[in-house]
Amino acid sequence: MKKPYILLLLFFVAKMVLGQDGIKPIIDVHLHGFTPETYKFIEGSPPTFEDFKNEMRKVFETYNIVYAVKSGGQYDEDMEANMLEGYESNKLLDTIEFKRLIKQGKIQVWGEIQPMFNGMTLADDAYAPYLKICEQEGIPIALHTGRGPTNIHLRYPNYRLALGDPLLLEPVLIKYPKLKIYLMHAGLPFYENTLALMDSYPQVFVDLGWILYSYRKITQSQAEDFLRKVKKYDMIDRVMFGSDCMYWPDELENSIKKLESFDFLTELDKRKIFYQNAVMFFQLDVKKN
Ligand SMILES: [Zn+2]
Repeated sequence: MKKPYILLLLFFVAKMVLGQDGIKPIIDVHLHGFTPETYKFIEGSPPTFEDFKNEMRKVFETYNIVYAVKSGGQYDEDMEANMLEGYESNKLLDTIEFKRLIKQGKIQVWGEIQPMFNGMTLADDAYAPYLKICEQEGIPIALHTGRGPTNIHLRYPNYRLALGDPLLLEPVLIKYPKLKIYLMHAGLPFYENTLALMDSYPQVFVDLGWILYSYRKITQSQAEDFLRKVKKYDMIDRVMFGSDCMYWPDELENSIKKLESFDFLTELDKRKIFYQNAVMFFQLDVKKN
């Protein structure tokens, strides 16, 4: 068991040295997408689906984004080649179909799933068979935690903010100890509970989707506070960069700039968050990068 870790460590050291000359690679573990049918122009977004894809390509190239976890949508084939396929539907598939899609590589990550939008949590019985399959097959779960958009209960009447509390995940972590899971949005505004959960369960990872580009003052403040504490408590190794980029490619760009701007994080902390932790978590084959 030890050998691969040593090799991986050597790889990271080499990568950090090499990275000093070029643009250092980034992995976005929380990306969304559209199809020609689902894309629509929203204020400030690129006018057409093709424009959207082109602008995203530009951001990927500028910031050397070498991998992404994509929940839904289509990008051009060459970009898709470096994306893990997420399955984001809130509707639970038949388990045989679920397994078939995993075998076909069409579900490489289960998520972004949002049980709280339907008045549920991952600990509800309905999820049990899927959690077992994900644990057996090594499929990571990307779970929406924390809050949803303001007034989202008007669209999803069963949505409850309280169901976004990361602590509600505890029974799942105990029942499926080998499950790979990351808490999207780091559970904000319940980030103290995220930290408590990370402290007690070393298998818990988080991503920083939306919290780095949010214009809301409370979220900006909590995101910084979360990162300061995660650093203070030596848990940076389980934080992954994610953008939660939707219609506006600048969200991805702004998220990168925001993380770069934090002086309390060292270069190595940032490298771990932007890249190394995701390589470990998703066991990515990065030789080609
Ligand atoms: Zn998302």
